[in-house]
Amino acid sequence: MKKLGIIVLFVLVVAGLCFWLPKPADKKSDGKLAVVTSGYVAYTLTRQLAEDLADISMLLPPNAEPHSFEPTPGALVAVRQADVFVYISDTFEPWAKDIAAGAGKNTQVVKAAAALPASADPHIWMDFDNVRVMAQTIEGALAAQLPEQAETLAQNLAKFNEQLIALDESYKKGLSACQGREVVHIGHLAFERLAKKYGLTLTALAGTSHDGEHSVRRLAGVVDLIKKHHIETIFTEETLSPRLAQTVAGETGAQILPLYTVESISKQDFDNHITYIDFMKRNLENLQRGLKCQA
Ligand SMILES: [Zn+2]
Repeated sequence: MKKLGIIVLFVLVVAGLCFWLPKPADKKSDGKLAVVTSGYVAYTLTRQLAEDLADISMLLPPNAEPHSFEPTPGALVAVRQADVFVYISDTFEPWAKDIAAGAGKNTQVVKAAAALPASADPHIWMDFDNVRVMAQTIEGALAAQLPEQAETLAQNLAKFNEQLIALDESYKKGLSACQGREVVHIGHLAFERLAKKYGLTLTALAGTSHDGEHSVRRLAGVVDLIKKHHIETIFTEETLSPRLAQTVAGETGAQILPLYTVESISKQDFDNHITYIDFMKRNLENLQRGLKCQA
Protein backbone atom coordinates (compact mmCIF):
# COMPACT_ATOMS: atom_id res chain seq x y z
CA MET A 1 0.00 0.00 0.00
CA LYS A 2 2.83 2.31 0.95
CA LYS A 3 4.54 1.49 -2.35
CA LEU A 4 1.37 2.43 -4.28
CA GLY A 5 1.22 5.73 -2.38
CA ILE A 6 4.78 6.56 -3.45
CA ILE A 7 3.95 5.75 -7.08
CA VAL A 8 0.83 7.96 -6.96
CA LEU A 9 2.85 10.75 -5.38
CA PHE A 10 5.54 10.37 -8.05
CA VAL A 11 2.94 10.55 -10.85
CA LEU A 12 1.38 13.65 -9.27
CA VAL A 13 4.78 15.36 -8.95
CA VAL A 14 5.69 14.59 -12.60
CA ALA A 15 2.26 15.77 -13.76
CA GLY A 16 2.74 18.90 -11.69
CA LEU A 17 6.14 19.56 -13.24
CA CYS A 18 4.70 19.08 -16.73
CA PHE A 19 1.94 21.49 -15.89
CA TRP A 20 4.54 24.19 -15.01
CA LEU A 21 6.67 23.68 -18.06
CA PRO A 22 6.39 26.70 -20.39
CA LYS A 23 3.94 26.07 -23.19
CA PRO A 24 5.48 26.03 -26.67
CA ALA A 25 4.98 29.32 -28.52
CA ASP A 26 2.17 29.44 -31.01
CA LYS A 27 4.46 29.64 -33.99
CA LYS A 28 3.44 31.69 -37.01
CA SER A 29 -0.09 32.02 -35.57
CA ASP A 30 -0.25 35.65 -36.72
CA GLY A 31 1.67 34.93 -39.91
CA LYS A 32 4.83 36.26 -38.29
CA LEU A 33 7.91 34.25 -37.56
CA ALA A 34 9.10 34.04 -33.97
CA VAL A 35 12.78 34.94 -34.19
CA VAL A 36 15.15 35.06 -31.22
CA THR A 37 18.52 36.71 -31.76
CA SER A 38 21.63 36.51 -29.59
CA GLY A 39 22.71 40.14 -29.28
CA TYR A 40 22.33 43.48 -30.96
CA VAL A 41 24.32 42.79 -34.13
CA ALA A 42 22.16 39.76 -34.95
CA TYR A 43 19.06 41.69 -33.86
CA THR A 44 19.60 44.79 -35.98
CA LEU A 45 20.55 42.81 -39.10
CA THR A 46 17.48 40.59 -38.75
CA ARG A 47 15.24 43.62 -38.18
CA GLN A 48 16.68 45.29 -41.25
CA LEU A 49 15.45 42.33 -43.30
CA ALA A 50 12.25 41.25 -41.61
CA GLU A 51 11.00 44.02 -39.34
CA ASP A 52 7.39 43.62 -40.54
CA LEU A 53 7.48 39.87 -41.06
CA ALA A 54 8.79 38.58 -37.75
CA ASP A 55 8.51 39.06 -34.00
CA ILE A 56 12.18 39.60 -33.24
CA SER A 57 13.59 39.47 -29.73
CA MET A 58 17.09 39.57 -28.29
CA LEU A 59 18.65 37.53 -25.46
CA LEU A 60 21.36 40.03 -24.49
CA PRO A 61 19.80 42.92 -22.56
CA PRO A 62 20.80 46.52 -23.43
CA ASN A 63 24.09 47.62 -21.77
CA ALA A 64 25.21 44.00 -21.28
CA GLU A 65 28.64 42.78 -22.35
CA PRO A 66 28.27 40.40 -25.31
CA HIS A 67 31.51 38.38 -25.31
CA SER A 68 31.14 36.69 -21.93
CA PHE A 69 27.42 37.04 -21.30
CA GLU A 70 25.85 34.38 -19.09
CA PRO A 71 22.30 33.68 -20.25
CA THR A 72 19.61 32.49 -17.86
CA PRO A 73 17.95 29.08 -18.34
CA GLY A 74 14.97 31.06 -19.69
CA ALA A 75 17.07 31.96 -22.75
CA LEU A 76 17.22 28.34 -23.86
CA VAL A 77 13.47 27.97 -23.31
CA ALA A 78 12.84 31.05 -25.48
CA VAL A 79 15.09 29.70 -28.24
CA ARG A 80 13.42 26.29 -28.17
CA GLN A 81 10.04 27.97 -28.59
CA ALA A 82 11.18 30.14 -31.50
CA ASP A 83 11.00 29.33 -35.21
CA VAL A 84 14.49 30.73 -35.79
CA PHE A 85 17.52 31.52 -33.62
CA VAL A 86 20.07 33.89 -35.14
CA TYR A 87 23.54 34.43 -33.71
CA ILE A 88 26.75 35.80 -35.21
CA SER A 89 29.60 33.36 -34.64
CA ASP A 90 31.04 30.83 -32.20
CA THR A 91 34.09 32.98 -31.48
CA PHE A 92 32.17 36.17 -30.84
CA GLU A 93 29.42 34.64 -28.70
CA PRO A 94 30.55 31.28 -27.23
CA TRP A 95 27.46 31.36 -24.99
CA ALA A 96 25.17 31.57 -28.03
CA LYS A 97 26.94 28.59 -29.55
CA ASP A 98 25.99 26.58 -26.44
CA ILE A 99 22.38 27.72 -26.72
CA ALA A 100 22.32 26.84 -30.43
CA ALA A 101 23.52 23.34 -29.56
CA GLY A 102 20.49 22.88 -27.28
CA ALA A 103 17.96 24.54 -29.55
CA GLY A 104 16.03 21.41 -30.49
CA LYS A 105 14.81 20.24 -33.87
CA ASN A 106 11.88 22.66 -34.20
CA THR A 107 14.08 25.77 -34.19
CA GLN A 108 16.17 26.66 -37.20
CA VAL A 109 19.60 27.84 -36.06
CA VAL A 110 21.26 30.49 -38.20
CA LYS A 111 24.93 31.28 -37.70
CA ALA A 112 25.22 34.53 -39.62
CA ALA A 113 28.98 34.24 -40.11
CA ALA A 114 28.78 30.66 -41.40
CA ALA A 115 29.87 31.65 -44.92
CA LEU A 116 32.80 33.79 -43.72
CA PRO A 117 36.33 32.51 -43.02
CA ALA A 118 37.21 32.01 -39.34
CA SER A 119 38.96 35.03 -37.87
CA ALA A 120 40.86 35.79 -34.68
CA ASP A 121 39.07 39.16 -34.43
CA PRO A 122 35.39 38.41 -33.75
CA HIS A 123 34.19 41.93 -34.70
CA ILE A 124 33.46 40.89 -38.26
CA TRP A 125 30.61 43.41 -38.73
CA MET A 126 33.19 46.20 -38.79
CA ASP A 127 33.60 45.39 -42.49
CA PHE A 128 30.61 46.18 -44.71
CA ASP A 129 31.46 43.34 -47.11
CA ASN A 130 31.13 40.87 -44.24
CA VAL A 131 27.80 42.41 -43.24
CA ARG A 132 26.49 41.82 -46.75
CA VAL A 133 27.45 38.14 -46.53
CA MET A 134 25.85 37.80 -43.09
CA ALA A 135 22.66 39.55 -44.20
CA GLN A 136 22.40 37.17 -47.15
CA THR A 137 22.76 34.16 -44.84
CA ILE A 138 20.02 35.46 -42.54
CA GLU A 139 17.75 36.34 -45.47
CA GLY A 140 18.16 32.84 -46.94
CA ALA A 141 17.06 31.24 -43.68
CA LEU A 142 14.07 33.57 -43.26
CA ALA A 143 12.97 32.97 -46.86
CA ALA A 144 13.08 29.22 -46.25
CA GLN A 145 10.73 29.71 -43.29
CA LEU A 146 8.47 32.20 -45.10
CA PRO A 147 8.50 31.20 -48.79
CA GLU A 148 5.42 33.36 -49.43
CA GLN A 149 7.45 36.41 -48.35
CA ALA A 150 10.55 35.54 -50.38
CA GLU A 151 10.12 38.51 -52.70
CA THR A 152 9.77 41.04 -49.87
CA LEU A 153 12.81 39.58 -48.12
CA ALA A 154 14.86 39.73 -51.32
CA GLN A 155 13.83 43.38 -51.78
CA ASN A 156 14.75 44.22 -48.18
CA LEU A 157 18.13 42.55 -48.67
CA ALA A 158 18.75 44.49 -51.88
CA LYS A 159 17.84 47.76 -50.15
CA PHE A 160 20.16 46.97 -47.24
CA ASN A 161 22.99 46.09 -49.61
CA GLU A 162 22.60 49.44 -51.34
CA GLN A 163 22.85 51.20 -47.97
CA LEU A 164 26.01 49.23 -47.13
CA ILE A 165 27.63 50.08 -50.46
CA ALA A 166 26.76 53.77 -49.96
CA LEU A 167 28.18 53.66 -46.44
CA ASP A 168 31.43 52.13 -47.69
CA GLU A 169 31.70 54.95 -50.23
CA SER A 170 31.07 57.54 -47.48
CA TYR A 171 33.83 56.02 -45.36
CA LYS A 172 36.30 55.94 -48.26
CA LYS A 173 35.56 59.52 -49.18
CA GLY A 174 35.04 60.86 -45.68
CA LEU A 175 38.29 59.45 -44.30
CA SER A 176 40.49 60.13 -47.32
CA ALA A 177 41.74 63.60 -46.34
CA CYS A 178 42.26 63.91 -42.59
CA GLN A 179 44.77 65.83 -40.50
CA GLY A 180 45.37 62.78 -38.32
CA ARG A 181 45.12 59.04 -38.99
CA GLU A 182 45.69 57.69 -35.48
CA VAL A 183 42.63 56.45 -33.65
CA VAL A 184 43.27 56.11 -29.93
CA HIS A 185 40.45 54.03 -28.52
CA ILE A 186 40.00 53.78 -24.77
CA GLY A 187 38.14 50.52 -25.05
CA HIS A 188 38.58 46.99 -26.34
CA LEU A 189 39.91 46.08 -29.76
CA ALA A 190 36.63 46.24 -31.69
CA PHE A 191 37.56 48.66 -34.47
CA GLU A 192 40.77 47.17 -35.85
CA ARG A 193 39.10 45.82 -38.97
CA LEU A 194 37.46 49.16 -39.72
CA ALA A 195 40.67 51.11 -39.15
CA LYS A 196 42.67 48.81 -41.40
CA LYS A 197 40.10 48.98 -44.19
CA TYR A 198 40.20 52.78 -44.35
CA GLY A 199 43.90 53.27 -43.75
CA LEU A 200 43.77 54.40 -40.10
CA THR A 201 46.11 53.34 -37.30
CA LEU A 202 44.37 52.04 -34.21
CA THR A 203 45.64 51.88 -30.65
CA ALA A 204 43.20 50.29 -28.23
CA LEU A 205 43.55 50.01 -24.51
CA ALA A 206 42.50 46.36 -24.25
CA GLY A 207 42.25 43.18 -26.34
CA THR A 208 39.40 41.82 -28.42
CA SER A 209 37.02 41.27 -25.50
CA HIS A 210 36.01 43.46 -22.58
CA ASP A 211 37.80 41.35 -19.99
CA GLY A 212 41.26 42.40 -21.20
CA GLU A 213 43.43 43.96 -18.53
CA HIS A 214 43.70 47.71 -18.54
CA SER A 215 47.16 47.60 -17.02
CA VAL A 216 48.67 50.76 -15.59
CA ARG A 217 51.62 50.27 -17.94
CA ARG A 218 49.38 50.12 -20.98
CA LEU A 219 47.49 53.21 -19.86
CA ALA A 220 50.78 55.06 -19.38
CA GLY A 221 51.86 53.96 -22.87
CA VAL A 222 48.67 55.36 -24.39
CA VAL A 223 49.13 58.67 -22.56
CA ASP A 224 52.73 58.88 -23.85
CA LEU A 225 51.58 58.17 -27.41
CA ILE A 226 48.93 60.91 -27.26
CA LYS A 227 51.45 63.45 -25.98
CA LYS A 228 54.20 62.43 -28.40
CA HIS A 229 51.96 62.53 -31.48
CA HIS A 230 49.97 65.56 -30.31
CA ILE A 231 46.70 63.64 -30.63
CA GLU A 232 43.76 65.89 -29.78
CA THR A 233 40.90 63.37 -29.64
CA ILE A 234 40.45 60.03 -27.91
CA PHE A 235 37.57 57.70 -28.60
CA THR A 236 35.54 55.77 -26.05
CA GLU A 237 33.00 53.00 -25.95
CA GLU A 238 29.67 54.34 -24.91
CA THR A 239 28.63 51.34 -22.84
CA LEU A 240 31.90 51.19 -20.87
CA SER A 241 32.62 53.28 -17.80
CA PRO A 242 33.93 56.73 -18.83
CA ARG A 243 36.41 56.80 -15.93
CA LEU A 244 39.45 55.59 -17.87
CA ALA A 245 38.84 57.92 -20.80
CA GLN A 246 38.38 60.83 -18.39
CA THR A 247 41.68 59.96 -16.72
CA VAL A 248 43.49 59.91 -20.08
CA ALA A 249 41.76 63.14 -21.16
CA GLY A 250 42.75 64.78 -17.86
CA GLU A 251 46.40 63.78 -18.39
CA THR A 252 46.58 64.85 -22.03
CA GLY A 253 43.94 67.52 -22.61
CA ALA A 254 42.42 65.43 -25.41
CA GLN A 255 38.69 65.69 -26.14
CA ILE A 256 36.52 62.58 -25.87
CA LEU A 257 34.23 61.28 -28.64
CA PRO A 258 32.28 58.01 -28.60
CA LEU A 259 32.57 55.15 -31.06
CA TYR A 260 29.80 52.57 -31.22
CA THR A 261 30.66 48.87 -31.29
CA VAL A 262 27.06 47.89 -32.22
CA GLU A 263 27.57 44.72 -30.12
CA SER A 264 26.46 46.66 -27.02
CA ILE A 265 23.63 49.16 -26.98
CA SER A 266 22.22 51.60 -24.47
CA LYS A 267 18.59 51.23 -23.43
CA GLN A 268 17.77 54.57 -25.03
CA ASP A 269 19.24 53.64 -28.41
CA PHE A 270 17.52 50.26 -28.24
CA ASP A 271 14.15 51.88 -27.54
CA ASN A 272 14.74 54.33 -30.40
CA HIS A 273 15.52 51.46 -32.82
CA ILE A 274 18.94 52.82 -33.74
CA THR A 275 20.10 50.57 -36.57
CA TYR A 276 23.46 49.19 -37.64
CA ILE A 277 23.52 51.80 -40.43
CA ASP A 278 22.75 54.61 -37.90
CA PHE A 279 25.59 53.49 -35.63
CA MET A 280 28.10 53.29 -38.45
CA LYS A 281 27.08 56.76 -39.64
CA ARG A 282 27.65 58.09 -36.12
CA ASN A 283 31.05 56.39 -36.08
CA LEU A 284 32.05 58.02 -39.36
CA GLU A 285 30.91 61.46 -38.15
CA ASN A 286 32.91 61.14 -34.94
CA LEU A 287 36.00 59.81 -36.72
CA GLN A 288 35.82 62.74 -39.14
CA ARG A 289 35.47 65.21 -36.27
CA GLY A 290 38.21 63.64 -34.17
CA LEU A 291 40.71 63.24 -37.03
CA LYS A 292 39.78 66.57 -38.61
CA CYS A 293 38.84 65.25 -42.01
CA GLN A 294 37.68 67.33 -44.93
CA ALA A 295 33.97 66.92 -45.51
ZN1 LIG B 1 33.73 43.23 -28.68
